[in-house]
Amino acid sequence: MRKKCRKIIVLMLLGCSIFLFRDSICESKKSAAALQEQRSITVGVPIDRCPVFYIDDSNKIVGIGAELMKAAALEAGLEVSFKSLDGLTLKEALDSEEYDVVMPFGSAIISASGKKSIVTANFMQTPFTLVTDGEKELSSLNNLRVGMLKSLGGAAETVHELYPGMEIILYDSMADSVKALRNNKVDCLLHNSYVWSYVLQKPSYHNLVVQPALMFSMDFMAGAIDNSDNRVLIDKLNKGISTLNENYIQSVTLDYTSRKLYRYDLEDYIYEYGIIAFLVVVLIVSILVIAREKIKKEKRHQEEKLNNLINTDSLTGVLSMDGFRKKAEELIRNHPEIPYMISFNNINNFKFINDSFGWEWGDELLKFWTSKSLASLSEYEVMGRITGDRFAVLRKIGGDEDMNSDNEEIITPIRNFFIDRGKEYQIQICSGVYVLTPEDYKNIDIDRMLDFARVAEKKVKATRKDGFSFYNPEQWEKGKNVVEICNHLPVALKSGEIQVWYQPQIDYSKGKIVGAEALCRWNHYKLGFISPAKFIPLLEEAGIVVDLDSYVWEQVCKDLQKWNEQGDHRYVSVNLSRLDIREGWDIADHFNTLVKKYDVATDQLRIEITESAFADNPKMLIDSIIKLRKYGFRVEIDDFGSGYSSLHMLKEVPVDCIKLDLHFLSGTGNMEKGNTIIRYVIQMIKALGMDLIAEGVETSEQANFLENKGCSEMQGYFFYKPMTRNEFEVLF
Ligand code: C2E
Ligand code: MG
Ligand code: MG
Repeated sequence: MRKKCRKIIVLMLLGCSIFLFRDSICESKKSAAALQEQRSITVGVPIDRCPVFYIDDSNKIVGIGAELMKAAALEAGLEVSFKSLDGLTLKEALDSEEYDVVMPFGSAIISASGKKSIVTANFMQTPFTLVTDGEKELSSLNNLRVGMLKSLGGAAETVHELYPGMEIILYDSMADSVKALRNNKVDCLLHNSYVWSYVLQKPSYHNLVVQPALMFSMDFMAGAIDNSDNRVLIDKLNKGISTLNENYIQSVTLDYTSRKLYRYDLEDYIYEYGIIAFLVVVLIVSILVIAREKIKKEKRHQEEKLNNLINTDSLTGVLSMDGFRKKAEELIRNHPEIPYMISFNNINNFKFINDSFGWEWGDELLKFWTSKSLASLSEYEVMGRITGDRFAVLRKIGGDEDMNSDNEEIITPIRNFFIDRGKEYQIQICSGVYVLTPEDYKNIDIDRMLDFARVAEKKVKATRKDGFSFYNPEQWEKGKNVVEICNHLPVALKSGEIQVWYQPQIDYSKGKIVGAEALCRWNHYKLGFISPAKFIPLLEEAGIVVDLDSYVWEQVCKDLQKWNEQGDHRYVSVNLSRLDIREGWDIADHFNTLVKKYDVATDQLRIEITESAFADNPKMLIDSIIKLRKYGFRVEIDDFGSGYSSLHMLKEVPVDCIKLDLHFLSGTGNMEKGNTIIRYVIQMIKALGMDLIAEGVETSEQANFLENKGCSEMQGYFFYKPMTRNEFEVLF
């Protein structure tokens, strides 16, 4: 019985252990299958293919292709994760260990390393469309140059098999391919229609046109290198793909195409709203600039106010000494053409006035003085209070009449200030005047000028009388002349005060007139006849001699024209000031235009240039002479022998004729020596091959001597003095 029981127990234990062992075997069998069934796979896809494959806001790879693959894989019991191809082409991606399968393929292709691939069943038919730059008629697909994306290399191969005549050029990005299309490097671009439907929403691609007539479809498959493992995998995927029905595919496609809005990138915003953005920027910049200018203006205004306070005398309102110095300096610098004088003015016994009448009366007197003076000053003049009763005035030189009117309108009322107010006291004003010299315009030193004026004021004071005195009376005379001559020139040229006279030039041997020199004459309305020797240097100093000269040249051309018309072909020399040859003015062109205007031959107008022009600017002088002679003008050196004639100049300056000035004979020197000089100068000039004319011939001895030595052209009082045009015309 015990034996039987033991047997039963052993059997029971054995049964239990068999049961347990069988269970554990079953368990281990199940996990191996699951391992095989639930394999997760990595799918390599491009990510620049919205809406087929792209990265969404949560940084996940999504799109039509991703959705279909996920659905098929799920059905096949596979877990799928997507990974970007990261710039690899499909062929390269096939070889990569990183991906189990790669998408999308139109057909099986050879990998980059030359291995064969296998592909899944078709997920869907994807339409491919050609796009052109603007409306274009394309010939048959077989002859086209087509641009595609590099990452579409697989599809490109499929297309190439379909259309062997098509030239396919691959580009790195959509932007590159569009650029190539626009530059006519390809006829059209080929791409998945879904991608186009998204990409063509880009504003700057608005002129790309879809060619619906040239559409074809391709398969959309996943692929892997052809090996046994992958065949199992592809098989599985195919089972999954076979479960995807058409409705599902349609709804996924719709979801990612029409329902997805194109998203603008920065470039799109710039393209679309560029002008508005530009205008906004311009507006902001303008506001900033205006604000800055306003602040600057305000600052300047404040500074001016402050300066005014510093530079103004608080009692009288005229400038303080500092202010006067600045303003006077500025006026002189900016108006070198204005002849100025500066005066130092002082009231005699001002202390006595203050003591006897009180400070208030003293102040009133000063205010009265300044108000009278300011009323007579122009904007080019200025007054300042030096100290106490001393005033400085910078005034334009107006001549004696202006001095008189100042005396009447300003000085006399001040003199009678107290008398006019019922008090028995006549004021004495002493003034010293300094007239500015040309040097003062170059080195402006107001204090120095005022010192000179003060010296003159002291001279007046010493006489114990009032009135004014000049520090430099000769400069005053000159200053008055400048005003009367230079300022009056424009009027004189118009009014006929200035005339052109002619002094005949003769050939002494032949006894006939061969030409004339034009000399200007000024019959001044106030000064009467004034000599060119007086007014020409003044006009030169003022820089306006060219106005006079141009007038003379034009008058001469008019006369020559008139004489030509009368059948009288005459020759006239005109004078050039050294200032007529200057930078920025082509004197030769000027003369050429002038003779053309009056239909005068160039050889009729002869040009006299003084030696001094050579000293000023030899290079410009020589260039001007060469050009004048090229035009056909005869060029003469004037006053040879009277100045500092230089043999160097004679060698360097290529002129036609020398005008030998006999004035040097009029000195007290030895006549014999003078004659010897003339004899050799004539020989020298002839040997140099130049013509010669002697001017300033006053006696028959001189004429005979010159003729004897070989100089027969002459000009001088012995023959004719300068004469009016009418007198000159009568000579012929
Ligand atoms: P210049 O060009 O040497 O002219 C000759 C000057 O000598 C003239 O003086 C003429 O009247 C004077 N003269 C002529 N024959 C004799 C004579 O036998 N004896 C004496 N003692 N003098 C004689 P004018 O007309 O007073 O001219 C003086 C200078 O003024 C001229 O010397 C010339 O350099 C200049 N000039 C005259 N008119 C013009 C002009 O329209 N433009 C320029 N830039 N300068 C001119
Ligand atoms: Mg002359
Ligand atoms: Mg001369």
